[in-house]
Amino acid sequence: MSTAATPYATRGLVDIRNVHKSFGPHEVLKSINLTINPGEVVAILGPSGSGKSTLLRTINHLEKLDGGTIRVDDELMGYKVRGHRLHELREHEVLRQRTHVGMVFQNFNLFPHLSALDNIIEAPIHAQGRNRAEVTEKALELLRRVGLAEKADAYPRQLSGGQQQRVAIARALALNPKVVLFDEPTSALDPELVGEVLDVIRGLAKDGTTLVIVTHEMGFARDVADRVVFMDDGHVIEQGTPAEIFGSPQHRRTKEFLSKVI
Ligand code: ADP
Ligand code: MG
Repeated sequence: MSTAATPYATRGLVDIRNVHKSFGPHEVLKSINLTINPGEVVAILGPSGSGKSTLLRTINHLEKLDGGTIRVDDELMGYKVRGHRLHELREHEVLRQRTHVGMVFQNFNLFPHLSALDNIIEAPIHAQGRNRAEVTEKALELLRRVGLAEKADAYPRQLSGGQQQRVAIARALALNPKVVLFDEPTSALDPELVGEVLDVIRGLAKDGTTLVIVTHEMGFARDVADRVVFMDDGHVIEQGTPAEIFGSPQHRRTKEFLSKVI
């Protein structure tokens, strides 16, 4: 599998080139260019409707592109190059590629009829064809890592929102992903549960996993991100270090946005 063959130093590169995406007449992504380096933590900020979720969804090919390319390490997502042409990959190849990209959603999206442990081992066994004993051991280790060792047999309805989201993070990590995408991972949580989820993400950032995090938690973005990307109306308007973007934003729309949310 290419996961094992990819040298660690380049594992987790995401290269987004000239990406366009429309829904009907509405162009939601307007030539996005963005390179995320291995091990980098990128926070994406921007007003509602600016295209942040759509951009995340294009990275793991949950949305097809209308133009441009997205490469994760050495693979084009959804396509292969033959001659000088791009050819669409078949569904099973897209599913295999998708297992390289972990995704954590706002509303957790756990399978309600599966225990925490079974939620975590489902995709590694069925989508990656890995051995159940190996995957179970790894899942238990991940549950320990997110502070839920004792919840392996609990069902989602028996867990708080913060605990469900930590299971969802463990589930994403169980795939040994090259990159993990977070779409507003704390937006659905009661305020007192936000911290426990952010602490888990902070731990991943320290471990050198490539992370792309859409968030409205400005303090968290400032602390954890290597780079902050500001999107508006389908464009990347401005990007820089947290000190640059929060300290001296250059673009009018970045300034307006930050003045409202901070
Ligand atoms: P954000 O995450 O920044 O709030 P989204 O990427 O969710 O923005 O949405 C960007 C725009 O695309 C919005 O106007 C939204 O209504 C529209 N949109 C998103 N998904 C779809 C879809 N599946 N069909 C039609 N329009 C969509
Ligand atoms: Mg969104």
